[in-house]
Amino acid sequence: MLLNPLIKQVRSQLLRGDRYYCPLCDRHFRSFLVGGTDRRPHVRCPNCDSLERHRLLWLALQSVMAASNTKGQKLLHVAPEVCIASPLKTQYDYLSVDMDPAKAMQQMDICQIPLPGESFDAIICNHVLEHIPDDMKALHELYRVLKPNGWASIQVPMVGEETQEDLTITDPSMRARLYGQSDHVRQYGRDFRQRLESTGFQVAIILKSELVQSEDLKKLSLDCESEVWLCHK
Ligand SMILES: [Zn+2]
Repeated sequence: MLLNPLIKQVRSQLLRGDRYYCPLCDRHFRSFLVGGTDRRPHVRCPNCDSLERHRLLWLALQSVMAASNTKGQKLLHVAPEVCIASPLKTQYDYLSVDMDPAKAMQQMDICQIPLPGESFDAIICNHVLEHIPDDMKALHELYRVLKPNGWASIQVPMVGEETQEDLTITDPSMRARLYGQSDHVRQYGRDFRQRLESTGFQVAIILKSELVQSEDLKKLSLDCESEVWLCHK
């Protein structure tokens, strides 16, 4: 839901405190907001709307970004999450794209990226592939436009081990029941890793315990996520 920026600012002020911390917008709060499809308490940052997965990813990216000089590096952000876009714009030569031109800097179908190979040093494409029938085509395109030694955050919602997929199922209510959302075309499992690797990516799994001290888990509200996958070329 898009809130009037002024209302959001007031809400964020009212919730100021020291119990919770959002590393994306660097602010402290006495409470986070409910979030997720199951409306769990203390999930969403009242200022930047970050969720657990955004905050954990950001912690992982901090170390990746610290390892190289990002000034002048090109980053492609697909279906941009505003909470991540804001801090990235200050660190990279940043381009956001989306099928909907109102949601990004450029309209783009990632199954046909109209750019030469090796155009980007980094790519973020989270919670997009579950909407794309030919996800392998999109993955090959992302791999093509990434530079050697570049990294990509390609997250999808995963349940269990095996991906469930039947592209003949097009009924939205059936898709919602089987794949968790009416516009999802499959439910990925952890075998998603094989799709990434068959494209050519090397997948590094970074555990939450490597990124956060256990005493900070509650403050950052990271209860739900356990790891971050980062792809390398
Ligand atoms: Zn925030």
